[in-house]
Amino acid sequence: MLAFAAAFTLATGAAVASPGPVPLPPTPPIAPPRDIAYPGVLTLAVDATDTDRRIVRVHEVLPVSPTGGDVVLLYPEWLPGDHAPEGPIDRFAGLQISGGGARLTWTRDVANAFAFHVAAPKGVDKLEIDFQYLSPVSEKVGPTEITSTIATLEWIELVLYPAGYYVRDIPVDATLTVPAGWTIATALERETGSGTPPQGQAVRFKRTPLETLADSPVYAGKYSARFDLDPHGVTPVHLNVFADRPAELEVTPEQLAAHRELVQQAAKLYGSHHYDHYDFLFSISDLTFQQGLEHHQSSEDGVGAGYFAKSGEAQADRTLFAHEYTHSWNGKFRRPADLWTPNYNVRMRDSLLWVYEGQTEYWGEVLSARSGLRTLAEERDALALTAAIYDHMPGRAWRALQDTTNDEIINPRRPMSWIAYQRFEDYYDEGLLIWLDADTLIRERSNGARSLDDFARAFFGIDNGSFTPVTYTFDDLVKGLNAIQPYDWAGFLHSRVDAVGKGAPLDGLTRGGYRLVYDDKENIEQKSVEGRDKAKDFAFSLGIAVGKEGVLTAVLWDSPAFKAGLTPGMALMAVNGIPYSDDDMVEAVRASKTSTTPMELIVKTADRFKVVKIDYHDGLRYPHLERIDGTPDRLGAILAARR
Ligand SMILES: [Zn+2]
Repeated sequence: MLAFAAAFTLATGAAVASPGPVPLPPTPPIAPPRDIAYPGVLTLAVDATDTDRRIVRVHEVLPVSPTGGDVVLLYPEWLPGDHAPEGPIDRFAGLQISGGGARLTWTRDVANAFAFHVAAPKGVDKLEIDFQYLSPVSEKVGPTEITSTIATLEWIELVLYPAGYYVRDIPVDATLTVPAGWTIATALERETGSGTPPQGQAVRFKRTPLETLADSPVYAGKYSARFDLDPHGVTPVHLNVFADRPAELEVTPEQLAAHRELVQQAAKLYGSHHYDHYDFLFSISDLTFQQGLEHHQSSEDGVGAGYFAKSGEAQADRTLFAHEYTHSWNGKFRRPADLWTPNYNVRMRDSLLWVYEGQTEYWGEVLSARSGLRTLAEERDALALTAAIYDHMPGRAWRALQDTTNDEIINPRRPMSWIAYQRFEDYYDEGLLIWLDADTLIRERSNGARSLDDFARAFFGIDNGSFTPVTYTFDDLVKGLNAIQPYDWAGFLHSRVDAVGKGAPLDGLTRGGYRLVYDDKENIEQKSVEGRDKAKDFAFSLGIAVGKEGVLTAVLWDSPAFKAGLTPGMALMAVNGIPYSDDDMVEAVRASKTSTTPMELIVKTADRFKVVKIDYHDGLRYPHLERIDGTPDRLGAILAARR
């Protein structure tokens, strides 16, 4: 190789410079976080009154050492709850820094786009910092956070903070100004006053560590209602509802009772709490971001219109509260050791998300049933749907569940072409199946004397009242399970999270006394999701999901539709010669059972029409659970309310 290179150089007559790194002008090193008190208090003033333009203005005053020198300001990169480097630095603009009355030059770090250097002059003891957070003006830019009636504000996106300190060691005095007449809700405590702030007056919050501030978002809005979910309890829990229209705020006594029962059932399960008070920040809106995001003493819960008004159709959304509330115990308080970081610019590691999210998903379902937020029939169909999805998950053949814990980092929830083959965040729902498996195993081996409830109480219930995170490792988890029921839990977990292979882990269902079956009656959960997503789901028959105007939103890898050449993005124009409609498609799939000829579709690709024939004859197939006669109904026992 060397000799050849020399000959080549001679032949061309000149030495060719090989490419190498071009040295950039250096920026000073960034101090790693240390567990020492920040000398001073960060003052943070946020103005969220410009809701039309969705521009949030931030002013900070940061005390610095009068000896002068390089100060590094960090914009949060790694967001708790997202478990990923998704800090919206692209929405950060207008940075101006001054000190001692003079404007100072800032420089972005050469290797870290989330870090800003500023040389503080000698004798200057504070920096004045201004910037704007440009909340997305349209869905094309990003999910809507601010409308003319609701603002969902995350302090973690509205702060620059000094490098070199744990975020729990940086005290912050924060204020917030919202539009006139709007109410606010947050887990933060106000310095003075309550209720709707007077026009133009900033709400002043009690001094709090940055860690707590960043974990305590504010919802504000024109139409709101507040419900006490634990009227007789000593530790307050409130449901703060914000909506596009006042009619969405109306709650029936039965609906309120089920939400209150969630608090009681969680207390019976965990035997503890990890907040001084808890606030559900709930938006019912077709306009704002529909998400669930956990915090220690609050959660952000967003659903579309109709949650209370058309409750029957919103069953898929009725596990949201139980899931996010559970995170106060599982995720925020007990946190995987590799996920905890001292500040928001240290890399997180997501290896135990099948506990953090998987077991939370499990308790989310269980507590929803126990509290009456969902009926047993709804819950059984929801479990059947999860089981069916993983039983038809082609990606399980090449990619272990453990590897999917990287998904938030690989893909921050961008659309995917072949999601069931690629896999995406399966630690949630495949995780759920594994915890059902563990729960029924404990119940079986202890002859019903113990269950995963005992594990939850022992593992998440320590340090009652504390919200200082307690971290754990895989070995701690195994030890915790063994303390409840001696078993080879390390082997149990490894064989389920590290293995690849076809077919979902369904032992939990079987041991729970049920089997997964398919028939032509629609699955309740699937129907609710179809309504929410405006799509028609034929996943377990043809292997497609159809969105608006017949466009295929998903094609299951290796399904009959896949084998016939259908691809997501194609539009269905006709089914068996009839112009496409969801209802005609349902009838065509139903009729396939008795038909001897293939189903014929006309589809539109990006630039062509074509005819596709699918030789499918199994009719409509929707998943359900069926009791296995003569076996104990352990699933029934799991879903029954605790008394
Ligand atoms: Zn979660």
